[in-house]
Amino acid sequence: MTDALRKDRIPALPAVDILVVGAGSAGCCAALAARVSRRHSVTLVERYGFPGGTSTQMLDTFYGFFTPGDSPRKVVGGIPDRVVNALDRAGRIYLRPNTYGAGTGVTYDPEFLKFTWDTLLEEAGVRVALHAHLVDVEEGADGLRAAVLWTKRGFFRQPARRFIDASGDADLCALAGMPFERAGDLEPAQTLTTTFRMCAVDLGRFQSAGGKSMLAARMEEAVASGRHPLPRKAGSAHAMVQPGCIATVAVRVADVDATDHEQLAAAEREGRRQAYVFEAFFRDCVPGFENAMIIGLSHHIGVRETRRVYGEYRLTRQDCLEVRRFDDAVLLCGAPIEDHRAARDGGEETEWTLIPGGRAYDVPYRTLVPKGRDEVWVAGRCFSATHSAHASCRSMGQTMAMGQAAGLAAALSLETDCGARSLDTNELRERLRRLGALLALPATPADTSARGWANNFSS
Ligand SMILES: Cc1cc2nc3c(=O)[nH]c(=O)nc-3n(C[C@H](O)[C@H](O)[C@H](O)COP(=O)(O)OP(=O)(O)OC[C@H]3O[C@@H](n4cnc5c(N)ncnc54)[C@H](O)[C@@H]3O)c2cc1C
Repeated sequence: MTDALRKDRIPALPAVDILVVGAGSAGCCAALAARVSRRHSVTLVERYGFPGGTSTQMLDTFYGFFTPGDSPRKVVGGIPDRVVNALDRAGRIYLRPNTYGAGTGVTYDPEFLKFTWDTLLEEAGVRVALHAHLVDVEEGADGLRAAVLWTKRGFFRQPARRFIDASGDADLCALAGMPFERAGDLEPAQTLTTTFRMCAVDLGRFQSAGGKSMLAARMEEAVASGRHPLPRKAGSAHAMVQPGCIATVAVRVADVDATDHEQLAAAEREGRRQAYVFEAFFRDCVPGFENAMIIGLSHHIGVRETRRVYGEYRLTRQDCLEVRRFDDAVLLCGAPIEDHRAARDGGEETEWTLIPGGRAYDVPYRTLVPKGRDEVWVAGRCFSATHSAHASCRSMGQTMAMGQAAGLAAALSLETDCGARSLDTNELRERLRRLGALLALPATPADTSARGWANNFSS
């Protein structure tokens, strides 16, 4: 063993008040919220060279801001609104209905979003440590004491008083030995998707040839005739903010444990292979795509679920479908259960179950607190939920709202010198409201028209 690997020889970085691991949509919002009072030092650790996680690595549409249906209600606000407004000010956003009825999406320029996260984090005074991997943790008598990070210069200990695990995979909690459910252990894990983007698309020609319904028919024909071996006949392609470009969620790779690097590597290769099968199909069979080409594959294959921590409360399918209320609610969710699974015939079956009545259920604070812990919160796709509940509560509107709640909670716990479990959730809810978070369904529908949509996002 080299000295670099000996924990007692690892140099310590200056201690911080709050350490957030993972700069995805949840982690960025957690770090921003933790800095709202400007009282505490916050470091955000990210393994890649840019913030945003899935929001910038592979996607371009925030879902979860609005409930689906003809009478949409806006259910997310506060810091997530600031993100949308910053993109809007730069003219890099538009609203569009979801292909499968999941509600209105906020489509953005994902490259500009990297820069937007950079700017918001810098303005808030968050120290962002990019190209730094969390690889271990150090426990003391009172719980977690430090995270061990790996960078090109070797290992560093990062001491902190509070920790937020927003790594998507619950890496921090897993390293600390906290219990979690691994996707696939109890129910089939959701499939993985390499997203791809195409340029030189004649969208006018595509629309006049029938648009989405024509695309679905062409996929059916291509598979039935054996002309293009598409992995699935469903999948969406939508116009990006950049003119003449489309983004897709079409590739499908099943039965992968994305915490196993060999399985993940095989999935990455398979995702790329499938993307080019789709490219050939689009160019050959879809009007408007004759000259189109792939200009970008997702930086990382899209992983819908891996580990979900067991928290002080676990959100369940029943909670979602019975539209349950909780006294310690810190966010709302009206998104359908959207569960992408492999079907027995090798195709895909996707469950779409709407939340009854176009309403939104409460997500309790306790789903963000790992069981028995006082110094750690979890935010984003590794929060405490069953497989089905997570399949509903995983859109970025909700992951940003979780981050916002966890960041405020960590700051409040330092301010009031109490642990995560004894936090005054009334005070937390009050602070969330002051920030613009929505904790009750608005009485009036949101205006999602091209003219009025921007008024929904508070400044
Ligand atoms: C294929 C697919 C399509 C989807 N479509 C949509 C959609 O259209 N709209 C929508 O709203 N939602 C969609 N979702 C869901 C949504 O994107 C995710 O649930 C959400 O982005 C998760 O955010 P997060 O911040 O929890 O995790 P992530 O975005 O995964 O962020 C985690 C961050 O932590 C970093 N990290 C991980 N481990 C470490 C470590 N050990 N050390 C340092 N850093 C680390 C990662 O690099 C990453 O930046 C989709 C998901 C997938 C997979």
